[in-house]
Amino acid sequence: MDSDTFFLELPKVELHAHLNGSLSQATMLQLKRFHADSGLEDKTNAFFDEFQIGAGDTRNLTDCFQVFNIAHSLTSTPEALTIATRLTLQEFQDDGCCYLELRSTPKETPHMTKVQYIETLVKAIQKSSLHLTMITRLIVSINRKSSITEAEEIAKLTVEYYKKHPDVIVGIELSGDPMAGTFQSFVPALTQARNAGLKVTLHCGEVCNPVEVMEMLKFKPDRLGHGTCIHPKYGGTEETWETLCKLKIPVEVCLTSNVNTKSTPDYESHHFKVFYDAEIPTIICTDDKGVFSTSLSQEYQICVKTFSLTSSQTARLALNACQYVFADNVRKTLNDKLLNFIGKHSL
Ligand code: 5GP
Repeated sequence: MDSDTFFLELPKVELHAHLNGSLSQATMLQLKRFHADSGLEDKTNAFFDEFQIGAGDTRNLTDCFQVFNIAHSLTSTPEALTIATRLTLQEFQDDGCCYLELRSTPKETPHMTKVQYIETLVKAIQKSSLHLTMITRLIVSINRKSSITEAEEIAKLTVEYYKKHPDVIVGIELSGDPMAGTFQSFVPALTQARNAGLKVTLHCGEVCNPVEVMEMLKFKPDRLGHGTCIHPKYGGTEETWETLCKLKIPVEVCLTSNVNTKSTPDYESHHFKVFYDAEIPTIICTDDKGVFSTSLSQEYQICVKTFSLTSSQTARLALNACQYVFADNVRKTLNDKLLNFIGKHSL
């Protein structure tokens, strides 16, 4: 089996994918066409070179967050959001994903309420599951720019829809510009969701802020996103690193995202290696496959080539990722799928 086929065929679980950052060029073109056909105003002028953040992009971190507005203006009606979800799910399956936890921030637009946003995503996932073999679950996002009231409103809605659709909604997460807001102000909303049975994942340490990293670690989320500035070598402290090593909270790492937004200078110096060597559970993810023009199989390939992992180590990375999915009832199915692949290829 050639290398590209191996990475494509490796059954992969994707645990960190923002819907609006995952829109491919093909999906955005379909959405633009849908807007034109339905007579909806298309304010995007969405040039892909503006939406995509490649290596060496000169925009700063806050500027990078502006690109999502392009996608948001193409997913502001229930119909467009449905199309975006359907096409994106299909692309993850085509890339060899067997399980996806898609995340998205409910938004109020001129065409839909936050309730409709969540309902649309749930319906689109349920409908897609009728013809896809990939299993999909939803994590609802809270943006760090939200007010406390809005965050609590989203948490309440998430709990309400989790009770109605425990087969779809599995978690809640905190994301958005890491320079905005404070983690502590979101603790009541996140706790409300956690107490109702939802799993929690937090974008943590994207910028150097050891005080906040410690607050997040003490909250003991089920997973962390990125974890860039936790090790002292990367802007963390002995305390943040020792605490993570003790708690062994699984970390969703997104190599190309970190390199292209310059959180990490290059692949070789990515913190994946220190996490892997310290046996912190580390899960390879895409973050925003549309914005960073990548795929999960490509992220595995980059990681494996950069850090010279063997095929057996690669397959075990994918196998270990199954332990950290939020949907407890599918873990065994995913595990068996990976073990079957490992056995078939004598890895
Ligand atoms: P959406 O939630 O609209 O489906 O996906 C896009 C949103 O995800 C962005 O507006 C932003 O709030 C969040 N997001 C996407 N990528 C990143 C990232 O790398 N870091 C953080 N902190 N948030 C992100």
